Amino acid sequence: MDTFHRNRYLEAIGVDVWVRRPGGPLEALSVPERLETVSAQPAPLTPAALEAPEPVSADVEEPWQGLRTEILSCTRCSLHKTRTQGVVGVGPPRTDWMVIGEAPGAEEDRRGEPFVGRAGHLLDAMLRAIDLDRKTNVYIANVLKSRPPNNRDPKPEEVTAYLPYLMRQIALLQPRLMLAVGRIAAQNLLSTDMSLSRLRGKVHYFGELNTPLIVTYHPAYLLRTPADKRKAWEDLKFARSVFRQLTDRVGIDGHLS
Ligand code: SF4
Repeated sequence: MDTFHRNRYLEAIGVDVWVRRPGGPLEALSVPERLETVSAQPAPLTPAALEAPEPVSADVEEPWQGLRTEILSCTRCSLHKTRTQGVVGVGPPRTDWMVIGEAPGAEEDRRGEPFVGRAGHLLDAMLRAIDLDRKTNVYIANVLKSRPPNNRDPKPEEVTAYLPYLMRQIALLQPRLMLAVGRIAAQNLLSTDMSLSRLRGKVHYFGELNTPLIVTYHPAYLLRTPADKRKAWEDLKFARSVFRQLTDRVGIDGHLS
């Protein structure tokens, strides 16, 4: 991605972008300038984002349809009593990147799609800054598929119930890298009570396939704590560099070189 477009996405995230004023010193774009820039003209999509999704064959699509049907009618845990609908995930049926959050919120529960609303917009901007787009090359899901009432933390029995669905999603997607956003997602995926700050900046491994997993902040947290957006950007750059190392090491046929 060229510098102009990356700066636009960083502005959308809220990470300070330093520019040289004509005849003056380096200055950060001010917050109002950033907001004007974003609202006046939507950031252009990257070439990757503009690519049409690849056609999906029936043998790839069918297992997803089956999984979707199961999740939408699932009663394995008590959350089915209070949800509007199950929220499966969004993205292409097979892709290299998987983003996992905690659970649907009120807006996701209503619309049936993960990460919509303000937090979803911020996540989209964060992903676009590293050339990812939910329509073409990243799959986005939550660990829980049904909304916990009042956005409370998941209970242990709900976490146990979700795991088979997530494992099937991973088996279908075959991602090369997983990005866990937020403490709850990271702690549940990694079966740990370590703080998010201690989990960041490392490559973890998830499940039987030992899928590399990197941890960063939840966009809803970043909306409340914009000072940490800079750290989130460091996490995204780290994830991108790990992914590049993985794809350099693994040939296009999937074998280690
Ligand atoms: S959270 Fe998961 S296990 Fe519980 S009802 Fe929803 S889909 Fe089923």
